[in-house]
Amino acid sequence: HPAIITAGNVTKHFNQTYALAGVDLTIGLGDSLAIMGPSGSGKTTLLHCLAGIISPDSGRIRLSPTDRSAAAEITSLKESGRTALRREVFGFVFQQGLLLPELTAIDNVALAAMLAGMNRSDATQHARAWLDRLGLSEHGHKRIGQLSGGQAQRVAIARAQVTQPVVTFADEPTGALDSRTSNEVLTELLGSTVGRGSTLVVVTHDENVAARCSRVVRLADGRIVADSAMQEAAH
Ligand code: ADP
Ligand code: ADP
Repeated sequence: HPAIITAGNVTKHFNQTYALAGVDLTIGLGDSLAIMGPSGSGKTTLLHCLAGIISPDSGRIRLSPTDRSAAAEITSLKESGRTALRREVFGFVFQQGLLLPELTAIDNVALAAMLAGMNRSDATQHARAWLDRLGLSEHGHKRIGQLSGGQAQRVAIARAQVTQPVVTFADEPTGALDSRTSNEVLTELLGSTVGRGSTLVVVTHDENVAARCSRVVRLADGRIVADSAMQEAAH
């Protein structure tokens, strides 16, 4: 897989603690990469740096050019450039907090499409198509607060994918779900990202999630201590 994101010597500290103590990571286009490790090991901080949500203290993070987006040096972009990247090139699925509970499922998904530049009518049409694809045809007009956890995560996937992002970042996307629902949501997440040739980066505690990804990177104390891609190369 050609590289889509290349991170070199990324560090980030909060107060006295190094959340990331020098991370080098090249993510391939079409990879599904699971980031694992104990609580506090830096997983979320790494995801936030890769996605341009926060700026590292040092190091470089580069996005390779694609047919959807120009090359970008994420670490040297201003906040406005990082916002555009997050809206138009990246997608996000978090455990909670990205969906607006008072809006309907359709409006949540359509809003993400409009923030990426689509007009209202196209956005609504694409939102409906994604909700249909994820088995939510009957639930588009419900507010998020009226949906089950599994349904809400499917809306979150639709919201993330309606812009056809180059890279989707997920942070514990199944953390609040029972194991059966978790498996179903993961199938939808993998299918709608790597299934169309784009890339998924997922922070998870769940070995079942990691087992379904093409690559697993493990962090400890802000450093990569294991990488399934390296282990394969060594064999
Ligand atoms: P993980 O996702 O593996 O649980 P995090 O990336 O959330 O780890 O955190 C790594 C370290 O950085 C922890 O020691 C955490 O307390 C600290 N940290 C993370 N975010 C902040 C923040 N916004 N302010 C202060 N400390 C933080
Ligand atoms: P799933 O298996 O997809 O998680 P459930 O069987 O939990 O779905 O939910 C079935 C129906 O019950 C859904 O249509 C949903 O609208 C409704 N529902 C589930 N949980 C809640 C809730 N906490 N509040 C309101 N409605 C709910």
